[in-house]
Amino acid sequence: MGKVTGFMEYERVEEAYEAPSQRLKHYKEFVAVLQEPQANVQAARCMDCGIPFCNNGCPVNNIIPDFNDLVYRNDWANASAVLHQTNNFPEFTGRICPAPCEAACTLNVNEEPVGIKSIERAIADRAWAEGWLAPQPPKRKTGKKVAIVGSGPAGMAAAQQLARVGHDVTVFEKNDRVGGLLRYGIPDFKMEKGLIDRRVEQMRAEGVTFRTGVMVGELPAGSRVANWSIETISPAQLQQDFDAVLLAGGAEQPRDLPAPGRELDGIHFAMEFLAPQNKVNAGDKLDGRLMATGKHVIVIGGGDTGSDCVGTSNRHGAASVIQFELMPMPPEHENKALTWPYWPYKLRTSSSHEEGCDREFAISTKEFIGENGKVTAIKTVRIELKDGKMVEVPGSEQILKADLVLLAMGFVSPVATILDGFGVEREARGNARASTDFIGGYATSAAKVFAAGDMRRGQSLVVWAIREGRQAARAIDEFLMGASDLPR
Ligand SMILES: Cc1cc2nc3c(=O)[nH]c(=O)nc-3n(C[C@H](O)[C@H](O)[C@H](O)COP(=O)(O)OP(=O)(O)OC[C@H]3O[C@@H](n4cnc5c(N)ncnc54)[C@H](O)[C@@H]3O)c2cc1C
Ligand code: SF4
Repeated sequence: MGKVTGFMEYERVEEAYEAPSQRLKHYKEFVAVLQEPQANVQAARCMDCGIPFCNNGCPVNNIIPDFNDLVYRNDWANASAVLHQTNNFPEFTGRICPAPCEAACTLNVNEEPVGIKSIERAIADRAWAEGWLAPQPPKRKTGKKVAIVGSGPAGMAAAQQLARVGHDVTVFEKNDRVGGLLRYGIPDFKMEKGLIDRRVEQMRAEGVTFRTGVMVGELPAGSRVANWSIETISPAQLQQDFDAVLLAGGAEQPRDLPAPGRELDGIHFAMEFLAPQNKVNAGDKLDGRLMATGKHVIVIGGGDTGSDCVGTSNRHGAASVIQFELMPMPPEHENKALTWPYWPYKLRTSSSHEEGCDREFAISTKEFIGENGKVTAIKTVRIELKDGKMVEVPGSEQILKADLVLLAMGFVSPVATILDGFGVEREARGNARASTDFIGGYATSAAKVFAAGDMRRGQSLVVWAIREGRQAARAIDEFLMGASDLPR
């Protein structure tokens, strides 16, 4: 433990944010990394409380008290070594993880929790700056070939683990760049994409082959899922050419809103709006892309994706932005006695909300209204919980102006045709059926085919995808070699 009395002496240290008026002028990150003295103070607040609930709250089980202690003592190289034992990409999670570890921090019972995520980012950024993250190519090759379908955080984590123990890993990605939703979902202002490119270079030096623009299997006709592939490979070919296949294709099927008027122009899935912006930030020229400039925007869906649409719309210069959430407004503060150390249900205000947005809760869309085939407004109704059911409030109908409607109500499942192409059984929600058991985990119903990340668990978080990629890598290594030294 760093400083015995630190938690009584110091307040939580927040990372500095650029002011909204300034950050709205660009798409770059705007949260400053903690400097060394700030990180020392933040780490000194860790009580090393005996039972590290934070370690259990973190899906990759980061060894948080240990790296806090090392940061307090200015031993950053060992802090990085401890952090990388459990997390392949802490510079990603240190920026975009919702930090369930902090909800579980013991200080959070009656104080502000330790800013664990900000320490994680400071360690990872310092490790890169100091050149401590050299590639780790394997000492021996196994001669086994593994194909990974999808280059999101699950596919990337699995690829790195498998390459480091000597397997020949090829990652197939239908889009033109590596990263999955890190690349084409999460906006640059939350996480700049050079961070992915740097890891890709590291992984190439460790022996991973990336084949972008290659679709494995087929999307259904008329699918609006992001696809920049220029080549197709059949699942059968992959099963024939490789000793094992990992399906890490995400849960890309967006949830639709089949209200009257849905066919009008100007109503789009969130990804049709977010992905092109990230491509343009990367230097691509896209003609006629969807813009919110000067428009009255309504974002339907109160989660992360919706919040990213709000931030992007404001950067485009929208005339107004409203975000709808079906559920009633949650309490501003949780009842910690009831919720700690679990993830609490409470109002969450993102940096994009702070940049300007009206948030409407307990509201449902009845109809999209249009003129000349284009959406011009939405008819809404208030809803309330009665006898355990959400019901409409009589007389609460309202018409709200809208020239652009973004559907951000989450993702229902992976694309079924991809799983069907491999003959992989689906569970009730449409995800690839595979357990996370210690023995036989991540294996699907198809011979030598495994599944991990959103494709197995459904729409989730980057940190869960990294966990699943790591665990699936161990399962595949065990399958190929009879035993594995990879961590679970
Ligand atoms: C807009 C948005 C914002 C988000 N913000 C956050 C956040 O702030 N924090 C957080 O923790 N999580 C966030 N998430 C969730 C997070 O991004 C996902 O849970 C995570 O990326 C899932 O990782 P994955 O590797 O399983 O799949 P994905 O990241 O979805 O990657 C799957 C990849 O597989 C490729 N692929 C699919 N099928 C094929 C095929 N047949 N052939 C070849 N390639 C294929 C896809 O093109 C894609 O690149 C956000 C999600 C969205 C949509
Ligand atoms: S990955 Fe997420 S949950 Fe784990 S320590 Fe980092 S911020 Fe916390």
